[in-house]
Amino acid sequence: MVAISSVERPTMECETEHFLMAQRQLDEIALEMGLDRELHERLRYPKRALIVTVPVRMDDGSVKTFTGYRVHHDVTLGPAKGGIRFHPEVNLGEVSCLAMLMTWKCALMGLPYGGAKGGIRVEPWKLSAGETERLTRRYTSEIINLIGPDKDIPAPDMYTNEQTMAWIMDTYSINVGHTVPSVVTGKPVSIGGSFGRTEATGRGVAYCVRRAVKHFGIKNESPSVVVQGFGNVGSVTANLLHQSGYKIVAVSDVYGGIHNPKGIDIPRLLAWLSEHGKVEGFPGTEIVTNKELLEIECDVLVPAALGGVITAANADKLNCKIIVEGANGPTTPEADMMLHDRGIPVIPDILANAGGVTVSYFEWVQGMMHLFWSEDEVNQRLEQIMGRACDQVLELATKDKLRPRMAALRIGVSRIAEAKRLRGLYP
Ligand code: NAD
Repeated sequence: MVAISSVERPTMECETEHFLMAQRQLDEIALEMGLDRELHERLRYPKRALIVTVPVRMDDGSVKTFTGYRVHHDVTLGPAKGGIRFHPEVNLGEVSCLAMLMTWKCALMGLPYGGAKGGIRVEPWKLSAGETERLTRRYTSEIINLIGPDKDIPAPDMYTNEQTMAWIMDTYSINVGHTVPSVVTGKPVSIGGSFGRTEATGRGVAYCVRRAVKHFGIKNESPSVVVQGFGNVGSVTANLLHQSGYKIVAVSDVYGGIHNPKGIDIPRLLAWLSEHGKVEGFPGTEIVTNKELLEIECDVLVPAALGGVITAANADKLNCKIIVEGANGPTTPEADMMLHDRGIPVIPDILANAGGVTVSYFEWVQGMMHLFWSEDEVNQRLEQIMGRACDQVLELATKDKLRPRMAALRIGVSRIAEAKRLRGLYP
């Protein structure tokens, strides 16, 4: 690995294990592509990071304070873009790691954005709707100097949604004195959101699955798929693949998984889920744990729940031919190498789940230009951009015998490096 910086630069507060993982990925690709040492050093850290204290009046009249973050990793290509998550594990390292991944993801997709991420350390399930709204509004006012349609455009992430974006947009608009829909993406359609945004990430994952199946020569007429996580990303992916004639043999949620080697009727499962609140118990299926689910024999495995689920402990037990990452960071670097040695290609998160940020970009463009595209138009444009990025990654991986993750990173990092070189260093 590249020996860089430890002597000249003291450790930064963001350098948690999580962040160091993203940094190691950058170091690996920087070495492989011969990236200029000074540019590499600049890209290893966030450009700016803001930590805020967020006081909130609780329903019982008391005041509680929460810690919030907003990090810009890089803004060379345009305004920073990235989600806001509410979760008890949010910290500066995690947010900085995810901001860095957003930089590579946006560059890879050819979007005119830099990378950002934000969050509040909170157990969101313990808050009432009113407390969540006050928390969101106060956090927005604390980070208001960083955000704006030309500066930084937040979007939903774990435990934030369309409603959260509507509150952020309203708080920002009231503070600047006029309505600014384009300060966030992932808004409800009635206040400037885009058709197709909710399904965009799953649609992009499904596209990558079909593309990878073709590229890696899976001959099965009805390829079998296992999906971990049956939320926004997982359920849309499973449903679209089901519609394309794929056989979804197992899916899971936080409570556990279900398995039927003959295939699961996904539209009926969706109806079951909205009635029962979990996939378990769906007729004609056997119960499996989330751990067992990952080891089920299939053509394609789609982790679409949490990060860090495919590790050195289970990488040699997986029974799939291809992995397509719906979640952010589901595969640890050690597992990635083990899978590579086993000949199992991994389509990386920064490509596979980039459908969300791509349609966020469409939402921003429509907002800035006062346009309204139909859902078909949005989906067509999404397929065009996903198709181009998939082709570029798979071609480079084949040509230079790289893991798809390394190929995707090399494309993203080299675009940022080139832009930095051309812009030069101020002053
Ligand atoms: P979601 O909250 O809609 O769904 C998450 C799903 O995972 C649910 O079915 C939940 O029950 C399940 N789950 C939670 N904990 C689990 C566990 N321990 N084991 C198994 N399943 C578990 O979230 P989402 O929007 O679908 O996001 C899923 C992943 O995709 C996250 O890693 C997220 O960062 C990533 N992602 C989402 C988007 C997007 O646009 N929604 C975009 C890019 C990346």
